[in-house]
Amino acid sequence: MATSRKILHADCDCFYAAVEMRDNPALREVPLAIGGRAEGRGVISTCNYPARAYGIHSAMPTARALRLCPHLTLLPGDFDRYREASRQLLAIFQELTTIVEPLSLDEAFLDVSDVTRFSGSATWMARWLKAECLRRVGITVSVGAAPTKFLAKIASDWEKPDGLTVIAPTQVDDFLRELPVTKLHGVGPATAKRLEALEIATCSDLQRIPIERLLQEFGKFGRRLFELARGIDDRPVRVERERKSISAEVTFASDLQSLIQCRAELGPLCQRLEARIARHGEPPLAGAFVKVRFDDFTLTTLDSRGASPSLDTYFSLLEQAWARRKRPVRLLGVGVRLVSEDARRQLSLPLDATAGNSAATWYRCSDADRTSPPNWGDRSSGN
Ligand SMILES: [Mg+2]
Repeated sequence: MATSRKILHADCDCFYAAVEMRDNPALREVPLAIGGRAEGRGVISTCNYPARAYGIHSAMPTARALRLCPHLTLLPGDFDRYREASRQLLAIFQELTTIVEPLSLDEAFLDVSDVTRFSGSATWMARWLKAECLRRVGITVSVGAAPTKFLAKIASDWEKPDGLTVIAPTQVDDFLRELPVTKLHGVGPATAKRLEALEIATCSDLQRIPIERLLQEFGKFGRRLFELARGIDDRPVRVERERKSISAEVTFASDLQSLIQCRAELGPLCQRLEARIARHGEPPLAGAFVKVRFDDFTLTTLDSRGASPSLDTYFSLLEQAWARRKRPVRLLGVGVRLVSEDARRQLSLPLDATAGNSAATWYRCSDADRTSPPNWGDRSSGN
C-alpha cells in the first residue's frame, strides 16, 4: 500500500427511533421500538436505548420484545419521514466528498482521502459531519475513521451512541491485536463457531495461523480472514450502487439433511430479511427468491416474480429448489428483488431530487475546535 486511504463510516444511532424521538420528545425517555405488530408475526426493526436496556434488539420478534417489556411503545414506522431524513443526511455527506456509498437509509461509507478541507484531517471531518447532522437534521450519528472499510465500520460502532473513533494507520496493529474475530467483516455465526473450535478468539490468534491452514479450513474465505487479521481490505468506496435485491442467508455448521429441516430455518431467516427490508426503507418489491447451496456446492436460485415475501411463498420456492437435487443443504437464503430506480421513476415514486451542496454552509463550520485529539491526517502534523 503506497499511500493509505482515509475512510469514514457514518452510522446513525437507532435511526428510525431517533427520527420519532426528534419529532416527539416525549418518546425520548420511554422504551420505544419501530416494528411490525406481534399478531402479524412482526419483528422489531429499530429500538431506542431505553428499550435496549430490556434486552430488545433489531430483528427480534415483536411478540418476544413485548414479553421483555410489556409497556414498550411500538410504532409501525413512517418510512416517508425516514427517507426524507436519510436524503438530508446523504446531502451533508456529499458536501464533504462525492465518493459516498450508502449502505442503507442510515449508514454510508465516505472516501475522504483527497479532501483538502479541514487540513485533510479525518478527525475534524468526522466531527464536522456529526455536528452538521445533529444541527441540520436533528439526528445523532456515530462516525468511525480508518484506512479501510472494515475498520471504519468497526470504529463507528466502537463508542456508540454518539461515538467518534479514529483508527489511524499507525494504530491499526494495536487495534487488531485484541479485536475479537467475530467483529470481522463476513464472519457470521457459522464461521464464528468454527473459529472458536480452533481456539481462535482474537485477530492476533488468527495472525498465527498459516494461510495454507486457513485455506484448508475455510476455502476462499480463508484468504480473506488472513488479510482482515492484518488490517488488509482493499475494497473501494463505490459510488454507483443500485441495489437490486435484499436478502438474508445462513451457512450451516453442518449440512441440513431434509426438506423438513430446511423448512424450520425459514422462519428466522424471514425475520432477518424483514428487518433488513425495513432498514432499506421498505422499498417497492418486484418479487421473492430463495437460494440453496447443496453439499456438492451447486447453487440454485428460484425466483417468483410479483410474489410477496411471505413464509408460504418461501416454502413453496424452497420445495421446488430442493426437488432439483434432493441433497444435503449447506446454505439457505431468502430474498426480495427490488423495483429498479428506472421503473420507480416511471411510476413517479419520489426519489432523491436535490443533493444540496451549499458552499456557504461548507465554509461556515470549518476551523471549529482545533485542539481536539487525535488528529490523524492533519497535514500540519506531518501524518
Ligand atoms: Mg445505524
